[in-house]
Amino acid sequence: QAADDYQQMEHAAKFFAHQLRHHSNSDKVVSYLKGRGLSGEVVKAFQIGYAPDGWDDLLKALGKDQGSRQQLVDLKLCNRNDSGRYYDFFRDRVMFPIRDRRGRVVGFGGRILEGDGPKYLNSPETRIFHKGRELYGFYEAKQAHRQLEQVVIVEGYMDVVALAQHGIDFAVASLGTATTTEQLQMLFRTTQKVVCCYDGDRAGRDAAWRALENALPLLTDGLELSFLFLPDGEDPDTLVRKEGPEAFKQRLSEAQSFTHYFFAHLTESLDLSKDSGRAKLLKEAKPLIEKLASDYYRDALLEQLARLLRREVSQIADQVQRPQAVRN
Ligand code: ATP
Ligand code: MN
Ligand code: MN
Ligand code: MN
Repeated sequence: QAADDYQQMEHAAKFFAHQLRHHSNSDKVVSYLKGRGLSGEVVKAFQIGYAPDGWDDLLKALGKDQGSRQQLVDLKLCNRNDSGRYYDFFRDRVMFPIRDRRGRVVGFGGRILEGDGPKYLNSPETRIFHKGRELYGFYEAKQAHRQLEQVVIVEGYMDVVALAQHGIDFAVASLGTATTTEQLQMLFRTTQKVVCCYDGDRAGRDAAWRALENALPLLTDGLELSFLFLPDGEDPDTLVRKEGPEAFKQRLSEAQSFTHYFFAHLTESLDLSKDSGRAKLLKEAKPLIEKLASDYYRDALLEQLARLLRREVSQIADQVQRPQAVRN
């Protein structure tokens, strides 16, 4: 069953890619992609496609019998309404196949071209698709590099593809949710350096802090996590197109270290010249530092915390548990 699911998803990706070239709406879709600065080469590398605007084009192509129609429903490529009619889930959308780390298509993101409706539709969870465990672009990035020196996490499909278009072919997107511990773990098994680069808006800044929290239990000595904050209103796609890849790479190399961002965020609205401000910082930093797996980062944070609290490191260290400490 499972092997067959992957095969069916691959067929769907091929179908959408074929429609991009041969559907009667092809001109419209291709000029949309060109308008977003994408070349045929990058479209091919990510196997970007088009889901036709009819009700059941995919169904007709892949749902030859009852069994395969049911499978398309199970894979959330089709729906079945109350009167038993089947119809395609993605219609008139630009399609981004999501591959798992072994390269198997497990889901799709579909972007609307114009008009009403949600900007993106993503495959719902299925028996082969678990959002929190997959990263869009990870397989493609691994294909492009024998050894991934660093990985950049961004928010959107378009960010991954636009960066690759500009030669920054080591970006991945967490799929519309906060970057999970599982996703970070997957990355840190492959690379030692991860840069979080979310949109320059409120949601992006919140996402960065949540990623930091999720990374704490994984950060062992030698791993590097940093944060690139983009100017207001920009995302990696708009910025790399505006500034070019060299400027973007420069920004990447100047990303805030994990330890810097940690205190920048926690002290943002605190007055550390007051006892109350320092007490609040200790209260908020303590449980976070206790989650850290790494002695190196623990020491670095404790040292800086002590400085901010105007205390000795030894005084602070006594109050902060080590994760492996056994409490009776
Ligand atoms: P684009 O550049 O194509 O306009 P974007 O990627 O910049 O899109 P954002 O609004 O920044 O769009 O959203 C980031 C990501 O969040 C998207 O790539 C998509 O995965 C997810 N997303 C955005 N809007 C929706 C939506 N309406 N429903 C589900 N997921 C969404
Ligand atoms: Mn956004
Ligand atoms: Mn965006
Ligand atoms: Mn965008």
